[in-house]
Amino acid sequence: MQKLVEFIQDIYKTKEFLPLHEPRFIGNEKKYLNDCIDSTFVSSVGKYVDRFEKEFASYIGSKYAIATVNGTSALHISLLLADVKANNEVITQPLTFIATCNAISYIGAKPVFVDVDLDTMGLSPKSLQEFLEKNCELADGHCINKTTNKIIKACVPMHTFGHPCRIDEIKDICNKWYISLVEDAAESLGSYYKGKHTGTFGKLGAFSFNGNKIITSGGGGVIVTNDEKLAKRAKYLTTTAKVPHPYEYRHDEIGYNYRMPNINAALLVAQLEQLDKFLVNKRDLASKYEKFFNVYSEIKFVKEPQNSNSNYWLQAVILKDIDSRNKFLDYTNKNEVMTRPIWKLMNELEMFKDCQCADLKHAKYLEQRVVNISSGVVL
Ligand SMILES: *Cc1c(COP(=O)(O)O)cnc(C)c1O
Repeated sequence: MQKLVEFIQDIYKTKEFLPLHEPRFIGNEKKYLNDCIDSTFVSSVGKYVDRFEKEFASYIGSKYAIATVNGTSALHISLLLADVKANNEVITQPLTFIATCNAISYIGAKPVFVDVDLDTMGLSPKSLQEFLEKNCELADGHCINKTTNKIIKACVPMHTFGHPCRIDEIKDICNKWYISLVEDAAESLGSYYKGKHTGTFGKLGAFSFNGNKIITSGGGGVIVTNDEKLAKRAKYLTTTAKVPHPYEYRHDEIGYNYRMPNINAALLVAQLEQLDKFLVNKRDLASKYEKFFNVYSEIKFVKEPQNSNSNYWLQAVILKDIDSRNKFLDYTNKNEVMTRPIWKLMNELEMFKDCQCADLKHAKYLEQRVVNISSGVVL
């Protein structure tokens, strides 16, 4: 472990405290921010928001992109547009950041948890299919959960740490069961599955630009879709449901103040210009780690799964058991190299402990063993 700390300090050329992930502002950030301030358009109208939406859609190969204040709000609106209503159920994975389940809960819907795959750490199509076959039936074009008598309206897989899950298989299963697919691609900007960008497989996809993500706008998010109607409605709902008019305030339903401010978009446009460079850097870091950990049989470095190209947003290792994990966390953090265990399973949190669960053996296995290690872009 001492060797690992030295290895990491060497890579980042520092012996001072090393955070898990830091943003890098080494492009046009200050230039665009100054320009934005000079223009006085710092709030929810401005050229950088529009420019970002165009450039982002083109980058990931989606027809439309709608910028939001954060990834959670992007998920919230995506679920509303997938027609999720109060008392519906939404299938997701227990191994995710809290935002996925919060967004489901904002609507008054309830998460249902199926297992993840060991190699992708994302939602398992096998677990999904087994759950549906065992518990659900189709009626009037709806998937009915026979245990709760509720409609399962949507499924939200998440691409954990940037590693794509088996999204094409998940999509096929969802189609068969009339379940809308909404991708939580918050962590996977720049990741591809079978050559197609994550976030573009579902009806809607949500990304985050929080300070710890691969590129950041301070806080921010985006909804992507190929459906023009959904895109228009996303823009409308995120801008207080205002009916377009040159000077009048007219609102015809309850909307949300979720539009990304122009000043955040100015930062983000500059960050997006550097994304490809960051991706090369992160994949290079991953191959360094892979080589380093190759000689240790009791620590496994997490590599990108088959058929995919990962952004390696957060680098991760799998320890032998919970004791070795705790020792690993203790040693590295005491030595100024920040490391962090993967999330607690959502179904174990107070708010979600009465939610229905499939057999979660893989999620439980990973929860006890996975640790994130230094992942920032190396300067
Ligand atoms: C970061 C993240 C989000 C969105 O987070 P915000 O902080 O609201 O931008 C959603 N889901 C996952 C899995 C995330 O990691």
